[in-house]
Amino acid sequence: QVVTRFAPSPTGFLHIGGARTALFNWLFARGRGGKFLLRIEDTDRERSSPEATDAILQGLAWLGLDHDGDVTSQFEGAERHAQVAKQLLSEGKAYKCFASQDEIAAFREQARSEGKSTLYRSPWRDVAVESHPDEPYVIRIKAPQDGTTVIRDQVQGDVTIRNDQLDDMILLRSDGTPVYMLAVVVDDHDMGVTHVIRGDDHLNNAARQMMIYQAMGWDVPVWAHIPLIHGADGKKLSKRHGALGAEEYQKMGYPAAGMRNYLARLGWSHGDDEFFSDAQALEWFDLDGIGKSPARFDTKKLENLSGQHIAVSDDAALLQELQDFLSATGEDCLGSKKSALMSTAMYCLKERAKTFPELLEKATFVIADRPLIPDQKAAKNLDAVSRCILKELTPQLQNASWSRDGLEAVTGTFAEAKEIKFGKMAGPLRAALAGRAVTPSVFDMMLVLGREETLARLNEAAD
Ligand code: GLU
Repeated sequence: QVVTRFAPSPTGFLHIGGARTALFNWLFARGRGGKFLLRIEDTDRERSSPEATDAILQGLAWLGLDHDGDVTSQFEGAERHAQVAKQLLSEGKAYKCFASQDEIAAFREQARSEGKSTLYRSPWRDVAVESHPDEPYVIRIKAPQDGTTVIRDQVQGDVTIRNDQLDDMILLRSDGTPVYMLAVVVDDHDMGVTHVIRGDDHLNNAARQMMIYQAMGWDVPVWAHIPLIHGADGKKLSKRHGALGAEEYQKMGYPAAGMRNYLARLGWSHGDDEFFSDAQALEWFDLDGIGKSPARFDTKKLENLSGQHIAVSDDAALLQELQDFLSATGEDCLGSKKSALMSTAMYCLKERAKTFPELLEKATFVIADRPLIPDQKAAKNLDAVSRCILKELTPQLQNASWSRDGLEAVTGTFAEAKEIKFGKMAGPLRAALAGRAVTPSVFDMMLVLGREETLARLNEAAD
């Protein structure tokens, strides 16, 4: 069974790169009937905070990336990690090193002056000293010194590291705390992780992690190190490029499905497919489709996909997501009456809205209460002539059959009789019904609002 994990360090919000890593792991596991686990890498006590963990969980929840089992804390596994270091020690695969900081510095200094590698070579490696009274010690792994270590990476291919470039990494610090590198390996092993998909900034760590796997005789997981995300200018994504946190995209009003689709395409591809459903992504996602070069963040593409997802969404689900958006941005949710009207209107709102704010703008005619206050552009469409037109049209509509055909027939006949183009009537009608110049079609608005409300708005505007 495939088991993947997302292992964020809780030092800030869920950033776009992290969200993409989580998504890839989620798609890979879920698409194969596997498990997707969540581990919070909170060993750096200074930089970790519960608020950051909450922000990460919230971001994942928004994106719909649900995990299996409990969220685990890496810090809480410290004893187990230390136990592995001690096992390696007892098996002679690790050793106690009593060298002081000063000794290590002196070693480096000398190596530098002799033009040799400054990788620290501890004199304690080959002397099995159990205790050295009163001296603190660290536990170091015995790194292989000859030959090479090969990382078989699913994205980068085989990456070969010369073992003489590896030092005897510390496993346990002198205060008995395990190092991060040990914690990751032990956790991935104990959690049964079969595939590790993560940013390629961790590729260097893989060589050192490999030493621990080999020393313990554990199976190495399949590694896939994905290139980081760059901005549109090709440079590493930074604050300068705008939003970095997943929740900022939520607040900008991108639907989660659009965001998932976009993030999936950020560094992974399936032929020429751009717009796809979760079901398709789950079916198609594989490690072969991950590109070797950094993906560029492209807001236009995100907007485009987002708009397409809004357009094909189920009306009820879309309304729910809209309410979630309103509450996430601290706005009032729509009450039951407006929700009902909104779901009737959804069919004409969801076309060509790239984000929820755009959809809400189109929904002004649903949300605003009478008397409508027309915006500047709409006000221009309610001059004296326009108000006369509305005044004369309103009684005709009173008796119209309230269907698209009926409304079209009445307004068409009216326009013909008055020798005005329908276009001339549309502006005033939009202004009267929505207080806006850009709205869904006037017939859609009339149908959604119903006869009574439509006539009331027309009468108010004509006065
Ligand atoms: N905690 C690491 C990070 O947030 C991820 C480590 C890993 O995936 O192995 O970058």
